[in-house]
Amino acid sequence: MSGTTGDHQLPPVLDEACERAEPLARRFADAGHTFYLVGGIVRDALVGRGGHEHDLDATTDARPDEIRRIVADRADAVWDQGARFGTVAARFGDDVYEITTHRADAYVPESRKPEVVFGDDVVADLARRDFTVNAMAVEVLGRRLIDPFGGRDDLARRRLRTPSGPDISFSEDPLRMLRAARFLAAYELEPTPELVAAVETMGDRLAIVSAERVRDELEKLILLEQPRRGLDFLADTGLLARVAPELVDVDRTRWRDPVARADQTRAVRWAALLRPLGTAGARRRLGALRASNRLLGEVTTLIGAAEAPPPDLDPASLRRFVHALRGRVPADVAARFCETVGAGPEGLADAVAELAAVENLDDLAPPLDGSAVMAELGLEPGPEVGEALDHLLELRLAEGPMGPDEARRRLGAWWAGRRRRDPA
Ligand code: ATP
Ligand code: MG
Repeated sequence: MSGTTGDHQLPPVLDEACERAEPLARRFADAGHTFYLVGGIVRDALVGRGGHEHDLDATTDARPDEIRRIVADRADAVWDQGARFGTVAARFGDDVYEITTHRADAYVPESRKPEVVFGDDVVADLARRDFTVNAMAVEVLGRRLIDPFGGRDDLARRRLRTPSGPDISFSEDPLRMLRAARFLAAYELEPTPELVAAVETMGDRLAIVSAERVRDELEKLILLEQPRRGLDFLADTGLLARVAPELVDVDRTRWRDPVARADQTRAVRWAALLRPLGTAGARRRLGALRASNRLLGEVTTLIGAAEAPPPDLDPASLRRFVHALRGRVPADVAARFCETVGAGPEGLADAVAELAAVENLDDLAPPLDGSAVMAELGLEPGPEVGEALDHLLELRLAEGPMGPDEARRRLGAWWAGRRRRDPA
């Protein structure tokens, strides 16, 4: 296999990355070690994208202890990233490098935790990476692209394939099948027939991957600007049954298209994906994927908002809609989500924005608090205080903001009426 390309100029993004990494690479060289940039920075630079300037993956023949020693006195911070793989992360100013010792070719079938075997050869390391488009490295000091598996050509021809046989690669780490969906979508690639066939027959192996890894990878896919192609891949190959089985029998236009249209933020994209399952179904799926309580709360609030959108655009309906969000999700985000999934009246997001411009929707609380209510009515703590607060909240939602004098007056009138109806 042909390896290096000295004849090609590196793209400017890569050239600059090498320049910035040069002092670090020199320290590795002085200690007798190699230093290569790999991963996203190389791939993205070759398709003319930036975005990885400060988040850099590197690989070296130095072992983790040596890496730590080499970076120790110059880095602003050093920490172990993914202790089990022995990756060392080091921050220099704005740049964070994740430096990983070369891996040697070690095929451990069906193992839950791939055994880590360190190696000395960059080409063997690249051979163990997931896809050819990710199996390229740049030798920093020599400004040399190392591309033994034709990743650059695959990017140009828009082809996704594994450096070696896909079934071996996916046995080694089944998560790669899910990563395929992400890279297909992000770079508009076409998977090779062998890759598709391997995913179709090996999808169930994803069961050995931890829920957290699956969740993080699925999240990266749905957060892409254009996730469609990857979501289609999940549905077409049957992989969907491994990551969100409840969606298998749901027409894909009900989750794929909303995801692609929705705001490109975490909770909103998850809500768009899981909305066909309802709040209870979304809660179960996110629980199975070990999502945080916070994400769970945001997603179910969004789905709940789309299940009970305001019937109309009048201020009272809008305030009730916003109040039901309980501060878990900003009003404008929830309103846009409803529009994205076609719930509620047309113009909802604009109407919420207009109302927010004239009154504070972040503070939809009763205009008096409990102690003010007790002082005003001469009450001890008890159920009447709660009733009074409910009434005040109802007034706030129905009529809008209200000063304390007006609130006391309305409270007094309510209390007098209540005592007439229900004399104690
Ligand atoms: P991005 O940072 O944009 O998500 P990336 O390609 O840099 O994309 P990382 O997860 O940072 O992805 O991984 C860096 C590199 O490590 C990848 O490009 C790939 O070469 C390799 N890699 C990551 N995960 C795997 C995996 N599960 N199996 C094989 N190689 C992997
Ligand atoms: Mg990366």
